[in-house]
Amino acid sequence: MILKLFTGLSIYDFQAQFGDDNSCIDALVKIKWKDGYSCRYCGYKKFCNTKKYGERRCTSCGKPESATAKTLFHKLKFPPHKAFMMLYMIVTTKNGISALELHRKVGLHKRTCLYFKRKVMAAMASHCTYKMDGDIEVDETYWGGKEKGKPGRSKGSKKLIVVAIQKAKRGIKRIQLKEIENAGVKQLKPFFEDHIDKNAKITTDKWRSYTSLKSEYKNLIQIPSSKGKNFDNLHRLIMSLKYWLRGIHHSVRDLQPYLDEFSYKFNRNRMGGDIFNKILSRMVNYPEVSYSQIFNVA
Ligand SMILES: [Zn+2]
Repeated sequence: MILKLFTGLSIYDFQAQFGDDNSCIDALVKIKWKDGYSCRYCGYKKFCNTKKYGERRCTSCGKPESATAKTLFHKLKFPPHKAFMMLYMIVTTKNGISALELHRKVGLHKRTCLYFKRKVMAAMASHCTYKMDGDIEVDETYWGGKEKGKPGRSKGSKKLIVVAIQKAKRGIKRIQLKEIENAGVKQLKPFFEDHIDKNAKITTDKWRSYTSLKSEYKNLIQIPSSKGKNFDNLHRLIMSLKYWLRGIHHSVRDLQPYLDEFSYKFNRNRMGGDIFNKILSRMVNYPEVSYSQIFNVA
């Protein structure tokens, strides 16, 4: 397996640090107001504490704000230490953990676990801050549906994923994955623009959509795929992704959040214990989202 997640933060250390609700709220307070408190209604910098643990009240306008307000921990219907435990399990479990497994381990309703897990996955989505450069390979792959019967790049009921890897001296340094409608240039171009530096050395197969990107990406070269043989690292990554999806992904309805989770973990597998802190910060700095936003329902 390519995924190597951290083992630095043991479950005993975790439990000692975040075993009760107040310790978890302390952590949220530290992250949320790391640059000092500022009232989000009037901007005033002074506050007093309220009776609710971690909540601060502006001494100018009098409005209170909890540690969880405007974060992905807002309005949880279960205790914070359970949220932290789920977060810990989601980021540290090597092959990922399903909502059903979280439900078994934490004792909350399955739907509640899925909703929380999807919030974590939303926080894992790429910010497109650092573009991939150096030596890049790009290809697409199918997921779901029947693998046979549809020739070439027509996908039928299958889902199409564009995959980019940045090669390291040995193996892969970083990856990006995106579900796309089809392998046309209109779909591939935004992916390139979001994730790949214009000067990167890019290798693709002979597909014509890549040919039309050559005017913008001067160092793009096209070689025959030879059934994946010429894209060894990339195809091993795809096998690893599919193995992981089969293990955890029970429905193909919303594929992108699962791709985000896989990429997030893959790209941070050298981070060790810090992966928990990093995702916790993202959860705190991510605006609260509703159930309908997470599940794309009206
Ligand atoms: Zn105020």
